[in-house]
Amino acid sequence: MALERYDIIILGAGPAGLAAACEAQDRGLTHLIVDRRGLVHSFVEYPQTLRFFSPSDEMAIDGIPFPMRGGEKPTREDALAYYRAVAAARRLHLATWESVVSVERRAEGLRLVTRREPNGEATVERWACAVILATGMWDQPRRLACPGADLPHVFSRFHEPTEFFGHPVLVVGGGNSAVTTALTLSEAHARITLAMRRPPVPYQSHLRPFVVRDLEIAVEEGKIDLRVGVIVHRIEAEQAWLQPAEYDPVEPHPCGEPYPVPARFVFALIGQTADTAFLSQLGLSLTPDNRPVSDPETYETEMPGLYVAGSLVSKSVDIVIKGRAQARRVVQIIAERLAGGQR
Ligand SMILES: Cc1cc2nc3c(=O)[nH]c(=O)nc-3n(C[C@H](O)[C@H](O)[C@H](O)COP(=O)(O)OP(=O)(O)OC[C@H]3O[C@@H](n4cnc5c(N)ncnc54)[C@H](O)[C@@H]3O)c2cc1C
Repeated sequence: MALERYDIIILGAGPAGLAAACEAQDRGLTHLIVDRRGLVHSFVEYPQTLRFFSPSDEMAIDGIPFPMRGGEKPTREDALAYYRAVAAARRLHLATWESVVSVERRAEGLRLVTRREPNGEATVERWACAVILATGMWDQPRRLACPGADLPHVFSRFHEPTEFFGHPVLVVGGGNSAVTTALTLSEAHARITLAMRRPPVPYQSHLRPFVVRDLEIAVEEGKIDLRVGVIVHRIEAEQAWLQPAEYDPVEPHPCGEPYPVPARFVFALIGQTADTAFLSQLGLSLTPDNRPVSDPETYETEMPGLYVAGSLVSKSVDIVIKGRAQARRVVQIIAERLAGGQR
């Protein structure tokens, strides 16, 4: 078994993990980023057709320019190329395709054991003064709770629209991802019903203005059949049943009879949550929205020396510009503690 020692080990090679690594480097601390898949794996899984809603300077890792022609917003491909360039230019230390077996607090520091993926054969033991959990909120898609939600034509991730050409598709969800998926599918000539729980006025409040604009145009042109104030009652092979319901994020109250809409395929894009099994395996208590309990000032979890960063911290940080700033702050806190002799 190889043995290595670092000031900081960062779990997760997403934007927050990369920002934390750059901050560690800037402060002269040794670091290693461990990811159970490849670099920025969440972004790899985003829709192939995605154009981000943020400008490139907001998607950048601090201090490293992310140029875009004519100030366009980056596509998924642009972002993947950019983060590869950051990792290469900054010579970040990466151990990708390694999953975490255990993180333990010992007198000498934190002991991390990982296993090589995908064959899971070799294990590696490493030690760190601090470990940062930057594993994100992308791992587990939220599932609908209605009958039929597990049928094979119900998907929780969207990659590419062409295979749905000409088919009736129900998209469920009220966020930017659901709406842009509905728009992309509609442009590819799928016949779209978009079902949202929230009634018309509030549903716009958490959507980007240009997403609302494009949706309104598509609805006006009859390209998207928008149903708001509804929940999915049940899903069958060729159709789904929607039911009017008073909006309540936890327990919506049905207030009308279910009615069918054509649905050869269903995309349930209702958000995702952290890998709760992994976080529980580390012995961490979770908040109601499945994030590790941590100190709001220091971001330290219940395990001394184990910190959280990026979108895992809170919904308010689930945007690259905020996640990168918070990740850098965590490293500053760790650096101060290490400088003060706290291990
Ligand atoms: C469709 C979509 C569009 C978006 N558009 C924008 C936008 O325009 N602008 C914006 O600012 N934000 C956008 N976001 C949000 C943004 O992607 C997230 O805020 C950001 O990715 C969070 O970064 P992170 O590093 O915290 O987590 P992630 O990017 O999720 O990275 C987590 C990393 O941890 C790894 N990992 C997971 N579990 C483990 C484990 N157990 N051990 C080791 N590694 C692990 C993963 O493989 C991954 O590489 C969008 C999100 C989605 C879903």
